[in-house]
Amino acid sequence: MIACDCAVCRSTDPHNRRLRPSILIERNGFSLVVDTTPDFREQCLRSNVRRLDAILYTHEHNDHLTGLDELRRFCALDDRRLPAYGPKRVIESIERMFPYAVHRPPPYKGLPELDLREITGPFDLGPFRITPHELPHGATKTLGLIFADASGPVFAYYTDCAAVPPSAREGLRGIPLLILDALRHRPHPTHLSIEQALEVVREVRPGRALFTHICHDLDHAATNAALPEGAALAHDGLVVEV
Ligand SMILES: [Zn+2]
Ligand SMILES: [Zn+2]
Repeated sequence: MIACDCAVCRSTDPHNRRLRPSILIERNGFSLVVDTTPDFREQCLRSNVRRLDAILYTHEHNDHLTGLDELRRFCALDDRRLPAYGPKRVIESIERMFPYAVHRPPPYKGLPELDLREITGPFDLGPFRITPHELPHGATKTLGLIFADASGPVFAYYTDCAAVPPSAREGLRGIPLLILDALRHRPHPTHLSIEQALEVVREVRPGRALFTHICHDLDHAATNAALPEGAALAHDGLVVEV
């Protein structure tokens, strides 16, 4: 956190240095990113991201959206308009905030060029069948995303949710990997706490649970030491194979 002197913000453990939440997914040469955070450029440089085939958006909050301009590099590399999927609220936010990114033809070269596609239900993208579930997130809703291939569900990404309703839990049962919002120990009006996230994990029993959207209340090592087996805090740069 900016201008904070707490033990986590002053920590020398690199796991305690957290940029905004986002994931990159790669399979069979297909590459997609979920959300373009204000840190998107730094995240791409740090992880040496070379190409993108699509962008998925979970919700319209700025900490998941405003790195969008940096997509221009990936449009230029492949000289193409990139498909960007999201719920209606995200589509409307992008059209309002980044009109030049959706204008055809582009006002000039060098801008991000997006082909907006509204998510209204399950859809196919690259090697995945993606099933969205609306999750409560304060004044708005976010999309929890379940990624499946021919063998069945592979992993789920549920960030920025205040709860996981029963309908959004069904597809999670026994899933190999669940990435789930867990902000801090204390309750929060728009995010799951560690305890609430663990309740979901105990019910749906994923092969592995990783918590994300972590705030500076949580020291990485101390929190992980106290979590049950199979559940852990994620961290920046973490690579997981499923
Ligand atoms: Zn702090
Ligand atoms: Zn949010």
